Amino acid sequence: MGRIYNFSAGPAVLPEPVLKEAADEMLNYRDSGMSVMEMSHRSKVYDGIIKEAEKDLRELMNIPDNYKVLFLQGGASQQFAAVPMNLMKNKVADYIITGQWAKKAHQEGALYGKANIVASSADKTFSYIPDCSDLPISEDADFVYICENNTIYGTKFKNLPNTKGKTLIADISSCFLSEPVDVTKYGVLFGGAQKNIGPAGVVIVIIREDLITEDTLPGTPTMLKYKIHADSESLYNTPPAYGIYICGKVFKWIKSMGGLEVMKEKNEKKAKLLYDFLDQSKLFKGTVAKEDRSLMNVPFITGNEELDAKFVKEAKAAGLENLKGHRSVGGMRASIYNAMPYEGVEALVNFMKKFEEENL
Ligand SMILES: *Cc1c(COP(=O)(O)O)cnc(C)c1O
Repeated sequence: MGRIYNFSAGPAVLPEPVLKEAADEMLNYRDSGMSVMEMSHRSKVYDGIIKEAEKDLRELMNIPDNYKVLFLQGGASQQFAAVPMNLMKNKVADYIITGQWAKKAHQEGALYGKANIVASSADKTFSYIPDCSDLPISEDADFVYICENNTIYGTKFKNLPNTKGKTLIADISSCFLSEPVDVTKYGVLFGGAQKNIGPAGVVIVIIREDLITEDTLPGTPTMLKYKIHADSESLYNTPPAYGIYICGKVFKWIKSMGGLEVMKEKNEKKAKLLYDFLDQSKLFKGTVAKEDRSLMNVPFITGNEELDAKFVKEAKAAGLENLKGHRSVGGMRASIYNAMPYEGVEALVNFMKKFEEENL
């Protein structure tokens, strides 16, 4: 069997040229005589790999010089703790709850201080983004926290919240590099690589330098201190070396495609194809407010659980895999990250049309 169209939410599809190049370099990376997996992270060759990855990411996202880029481990989930442990100087933070990942981050934040919920869309099962233009931001909040793209529910902040001058922290795991971003609007951006960037095991943190201090909460483990990793340029201990190498290749691939403006255009075109179909379908329907729809994760349902299961099963047989919705919400979800080709979404929509005709 050949490669299928993989709609998994994560770990997710990667660009084929990246996988091929990595395969070519597997046994002997550029005459080093070894695989990148076998290399010392302190070697000159590896230093070139991680430095170039950072340089390319900086170029792609236009990251200003007063921000550090850290390649770390522990997934996005570990950042739920690292953020408050490093930044909760007043022990107060305001969270906007738009789904499971924000909820988990909030629960973790509450272990370390007063974690307020200043807005939430829990009342309608996270099917929209609340109005965040005038929130009751705490006077002494150390930061305002959002999950920018909600992987499970399929919503995305189209406008950033008005934080009233407080530092904005964003989990961008599932929208990383999907469109241009103004880094200067954030104090910290972080994301697990396994959604849109690379293999699981790497989390990338982009943090404004003035937020990196020795002054962390008592008991903060050394490995969770941003200063330790920033001072040693992500080489305090062994980094997820092979994963970073693949991330670097994905950065090059995005550059070769034309950068984030082009990624955005492509992503909009793919998402439009699927959303337009959903909007006129008599069988399928999207589950979130139109104005808040994610370009990356598209949940939909038939309204009949048995039919949903049948769809997922038959789609898989047709080479369209991992369309089952998150275990907490059911239905279907198509994740259409950067590396999903237009043809993949086309194949999905054609299959949905056929399924609709046969089952309506
Ligand atoms: C997948 C995901 C996470 C969890 O990432 P891990 O790397 O598994 O910890 C957190 N936030 C968002 C938005 C995600 O999509």
